Amino acid sequence: MSDYQHRARKRFGQNFLHDMGVIDRILRAIRPRAGERLVEIGPGQGALTEGLLDSGANLEVVELDLDLIPILNSRFAGRPNFHINQGDALKFDFATLADGPHSLRVVGNLPYNISTPLIFHLLDHAHLIRDMHFMLQKEVVERLAAEPGGGDWGRLSIMVQYHCRVEHLFNVGPGAFNPAPKVDSAIVRLVPHETPPHPAQDPRQLDRVVRAAFNMRRKTLRNTLKGLLSAEDIEAAGVEGSLRPEQLDLAAFVRLADRLALQAPRDETS
Ligand code: SAM
Repeated sequence: MSDYQHRARKRFGQNFLHDMGVIDRILRAIRPRAGERLVEIGPGQGALTEGLLDSGANLEVVELDLDLIPILNSRFAGRPNFHINQGDALKFDFATLADGPHSLRVVGNLPYNISTPLIFHLLDHAHLIRDMHFMLQKEVVERLAAEPGGGDWGRLSIMVQYHCRVEHLFNVGPGAFNPAPKVDSAIVRLVPHETPPHPAQDPRQLDRVVRAAFNMRRKTLRNTLKGLLSAEDIEAAGVEGSLRPEQLDLAAFVRLADRLALQAPRDETS
């Protein structure tokens, strides 16, 4: 261990795990195995890293804070299965670490300020990922695992469930961290589907229609989708235009996206 005392930085979302019981429970949920390709986002001072390395898995870590690099190196540089990448996980090309489809296992006690964009970034690589285990703010996990009909059901739930099976594993209180965050946390498991259960003709159209629908979640679909789909198109997708977006399940959003794909040129990027 280095003598250097690292002061947690708020702007990097640093809340370090110190509760060995919680660390152990997370490691048991991940169940890393020798030879697997693991990626840890935000290793911090190595609370989870140590157990991940002990499994014999091949571990790549991605850490943004330059000050943590020497601490991590002093603890783990001697381990042949430890590989460090200094940089921003939001910009990191995870494809460079993959060894074919569904080869990567991604884990992390994520910085809460970037967790949603990071999950969207990882979804771009969903076909390369076997599973993901994340510590997130509990409310975010509830949105990820939400079902249609409630206030938690929204763009994050739909786009993540399009690509992944979601399991809310267990909750973690603020006392497990130093410094303690002001919010409750939870561990979630995301398992990318081999084939999406409701495949869209063009997933970009799903993103467009879901964004538009939840832009004003209190309004009816006929209103929120006005710029994208006519009332006739909505009906042709088998969707009642007087419903509000939170009442629609994933399959219905995919049908709307497929209507949109019929009229949108394939190279549309908006
Ligand atoms: N894994 C450690 C633990 O459980 O104690 C640290 C978790 S702490 C909540 C989040 C970590 O992510 C910090 O080490 C922070 O420096 C790092 N981090 C923040 N933003 C990042 C980014 N954009 N890319 C990579 N790492 C980042």
